[in-house]
Amino acid sequence: MHHHPLRLGCIADDFTGATDLANNLVRCGMRVLQTIGVPMQALKSEVDAVVVALKSRTCSRDEAVQQSLQACAWLRAQGAQQIYFKYCSTFDSTPQGNIGPVIESLMDAVGTDFTVTTPAFPANQRTVFQGHLFVGDALLSESGMQLHPLTPMTDSNLVRVLQAQCDRPVGLIDFATVAQGAPAIRQRIAQLRQQGVAVAVVDALSDADLMQLGAALKDMPLVSAASGVAIGLPQNFGLAPSDPVSVLPRASGYQAIVSGSCSRATLRQVQRFIASGLPARALDPLRLTNAAQQDVVDEILTWAQALLPQGPLLVYSSAPADAVSATQNALGARAAGALIESTLAAIARGLVALGARQLVLAGGETSAACVQALGVTRLQIGAQIDPGVPWCYGRAPAPEGATHGLHLALKSGNFGRDDFFTQAFQALQGARP
Ligand code: ADP
Repeated sequence: MHHHPLRLGCIADDFTGATDLANNLVRCGMRVLQTIGVPMQALKSEVDAVVVALKSRTCSRDEAVQQSLQACAWLRAQGAQQIYFKYCSTFDSTPQGNIGPVIESLMDAVGTDFTVTTPAFPANQRTVFQGHLFVGDALLSESGMQLHPLTPMTDSNLVRVLQAQCDRPVGLIDFATVAQGAPAIRQRIAQLRQQGVAVAVVDALSDADLMQLGAALKDMPLVSAASGVAIGLPQNFGLAPSDPVSVLPRASGYQAIVSGSCSRATLRQVQRFIASGLPARALDPLRLTNAAQQDVVDEILTWAQALLPQGPLLVYSSAPADAVSATQNALGARAAGALIESTLAAIARGLVALGARQLVLAGGETSAACVQALGVTRLQIGAQIDPGVPWCYGRAPAPEGATHGLHLALKSGNFGRDDFFTQAFQALQGARP
């Protein structure tokens, strides 16, 4: 069988980010496969882009670099013409990384001395101006992200933030240049390169900016960005938006939401779901010593079993900042995160065992833990629910060699409208193949 070469090889540092990126590529006319982790075998499907989903945002820097290099090597072995490193649109990272170290190691791997980087995603109200990241009308450092449980973002100046994580010099391509279009951007890139700048943060305020940037990135071996830049790349491969790429199998089975995100948008979504009188059950992290974990899981699943036939239900650990601090003081931030993730993952598995086949998973780390626990290894990308969040379809191993077809929405913490938790299922029922 003749295969045309893979165009775009993407590496995402978490799973919601991976579906977010895949969603943007699909909407721009690419056939996309998302894999969970680096595949063992060669690519068999005929696709334009592969998004390898890693869980490398908050692991150690060395582990993140190693996983990203593995993904890069696999993608290049499949013929990827351009590598896209996808991180969060709120630039989630710490002074140790992992964004900077991963970018620099990928630069070495593809053999380039220059790349650009921008978390701009105007459709989701992430804009970059003079190197400063805004979330809606607030600077990143006043957006709520300064309180994130694992990656608090207290500086909005991305040139400074990234320079602290990088050995190579970091520079800026400002909005005035971007506004002049692709040739001006290319000129500025040449200039920065001459000055010895290796990584340039790029301002972008609108989709039009991203389309110009995309055109300027044709032939750049490595791009690093949130998902926004993806809308400008398919044009470089002669691809245009088309509909049928996003049809998933028909949805069936029970509906459930598992939420471990403590981000503001998710907290509003949890509140809205509860306020509409739908069944919701909070997970109390302080009860979760390792010994009691199975009891807590069993209790919640018993509660869920009776309610699942009646419609969507929610299990959540999502909590406001003061409750998160209390839990972290008692258990340690990382330990609390890991314990809650593994508990929610066990609950997600239990819900599928009870017949849930449509799952909304809220939170990047949370949904990664759940998808891994479910044993799903590949995701097909369907229609968008809200910017950055598509429905996906994958198969999970089931007892006796069978598999369950699952519809999954992997929602990044700060994505989605307030009624996302009910809207998502309605969108799925409305989508008929
Ligand atoms: P987001 O997409 O909003 O960043 P994540 O799932 O990526 O959400 O990250 C949230 C982190 O906070 C996870 O590690 C999760 O286990 C942890 N967490 C969730 N609920 C609580 C809580 N009540 N207290 C402390 N940590 C929590």
